[in-house]
Amino acid sequence: MFALLLFATAAAVSFRTDFEAGNLGRVETVAPDHYRCHVLGEVDQDKRNRQASWYYFRIDGARGRTLTIDLVDLAGEYNYQPTQGAIIAETPPYYSEDQKTWRPLEGEFDAAGPRMRVRVEPHANRVWIAHQPPYTTQNLAILLSEMRSNRAFSVENVGKTVHKRDIPLVTITDPATPVAGKKVIWILFRQHSWEAGSSWAGEGAIRFLLSAKPEAAAIRRATVFKIFPMCDPDGVARGGVRFNANGFDLNRNWDVHDPVRMPEIDAERGAILKWVDAGGRVDLALTLHNDEKPEYIESAPGQEHMPLAHRFYAALEQSPVFAPTKPVAPSTVSTTAGKPGRMSFHQGLYNDRKLPAFLIEQMTVSHPKLGRRPVAADRIRFGEDLVKAMAEAVGAR
Ligand SMILES: [Zn+2]
Repeated sequence: MFALLLFATAAAVSFRTDFEAGNLGRVETVAPDHYRCHVLGEVDQDKRNRQASWYYFRIDGARGRTLTIDLVDLAGEYNYQPTQGAIIAETPPYYSEDQKTWRPLEGEFDAAGPRMRVRVEPHANRVWIAHQPPYTTQNLAILLSEMRSNRAFSVENVGKTVHKRDIPLVTITDPATPVAGKKVIWILFRQHSWEAGSSWAGEGAIRFLLSAKPEAAAIRRATVFKIFPMCDPDGVARGGVRFNANGFDLNRNWDVHDPVRMPEIDAERGAILKWVDAGGRVDLALTLHNDEKPEYIESAPGQEHMPLAHRFYAALEQSPVFAPTKPVAPSTVSTTAGKPGRMSFHQGLYNDRKLPAFLIEQMTVSHPKLGRRPVAADRIRFGEDLVKAMAEAVGAR
């Protein structure tokens, strides 16, 4: 499904997306070494809420040239309101010459288009350009196989996606300490496939929790972490935006039960509610996202979880990779009042069982505490700080 040769120009420069998460629309030649690249984007099940928030492509044969690349077709819709999209002046692409190390490019943004223009001078014959440093199902498979022999780690598959990929649920706890008395923390990473930063944080969280650090060992004795490391593997694999293979937004629809059209939500919510119904506690539940400029923690609707929310906020605010742009507050009941299928994770779980569920958004623009745009190492660090702050908020640290 990735075998798509998009365009090959004369002079042997070519644009390719035939690798995992690769995605780009039409490529036109404007002038020699100047290309107009259409971002494909995706719409939801009602052909609304178009998002052009992901592109990831390789350029072959451009070593020694200076290429001008215009990214176009960026406008879209968010919660039924027109938006300039995720690609704004402050979010030019990331660039790599080895598909591992990514650095942010400088961009020239024309809001009238809108159009993002970048110039690159490849030193390698193959270079990659993406909206965010990519994190694929292959990255996750490597992480999980590395952790498999750790006695504090276990993984089960709680369901299948639309395209029959496994939906893994990771459990991390000290098996030598009884579960009774442990705090229980649930985290969902990567509900939206463009938000690769969420997955890098997930990797950081899992690596820290399973590390030999004394602090991690103490957290393992006092907590059970239940982690969905990748909630939309279909979207990640195809280079999608925020919808599953049937077009459903996986961080809406938490008020809808539809195991056929949105099996991912059904599997994730089903695992949490099964745990609760079996008498399991949920001390804190979280979904982690990326956004453009905002960075914040949002509590479930209602006031009863606000004391926990304040402890969580106070602990996480200490992190050098978390710079909240607004105070913590309760969510509205739904993202779109009165319309079914519009509750996000924390709204839905509160609606179901009044659970202490939260949402975090992290910015993708230049980060005020870092003084630059975040890279994978910053997200990994955030994952460690996140699970420490969650343990602290529930009194397990
Ligand atoms: Zn999101």
